[in-house]
Amino acid sequence: MPALLVNEVFLSLQGEGVRTGLPSVFIRLQGCRVGCPWCDTGYARTTAPQDRLPDNDGAVFAKTSASPSHTCAQTAWLVRGVLALARPGMNAVITGGEPCEQGIAHLTTALCDAGFSVQVETSGTCPILCDARAWVTLSPKARPVLPENWKRADEIKLPVLTIEDIARHAGALERLPANMISLQPVSGTHAATALCVRECLRRNWRLSLQTQKFINLR
Ligand code: SF4
Repeated sequence: MPALLVNEVFLSLQGEGVRTGLPSVFIRLQGCRVGCPWCDTGYARTTAPQDRLPDNDGAVFAKTSASPSHTCAQTAWLVRGVLALARPGMNAVITGGEPCEQGIAHLTTALCDAGFSVQVETSGTCPILCDARAWVTLSPKARPVLPENWKRADEIKLPVLTIEDIARHAGALERLPANMISLQPVSGTHAATALCVRECLRRNWRLSLQTQKFINLR
């Protein structure tokens, strides 16, 4: 099975989107080339050699604060670590960074086989190659979403700072069922929140808030 660059693995509650509130094990992969100006996980974007820990370094299971340090993990080692931390049946969130820049198919299958409810959070800028049982949260950003990824998505969670963030993807969004779509105000600013509320009411879309930030969760 392929190795993956992993920033951190931790337990928390899913704070965003349709699965808000679910106890979850988060597997944050390292590396992202999308380049959103308001990225709140910048520490997981770069893969600089000086930030590389030894292979299969358990430090990624013990982080208490955000840092760019990451390990190259064998998938089987990673799954064993997840099983030691979390109980099967839980939501297992593969996030980043941009997880689909790496080969996550084996990891998603191994976690599904182990009994986890797997969720992949992706910008949709790379092919989404994951187990058919995985729930895909597509979070479109400024770079184009690959056309086939709109069809693979189980939910759309759209970060919104200005009306342009909706307009950029409006054609694709309007072809999807309304109950798949959430608008999420970037950084919870008053203006972005007011815009999202207005557009949710107008279009019958859902509001997603980053609830983990209200209660100081990772
Ligand atoms: S896709 Fe995610 S990790 Fe990458 S730059 Fe954008 S917000 Fe940051």
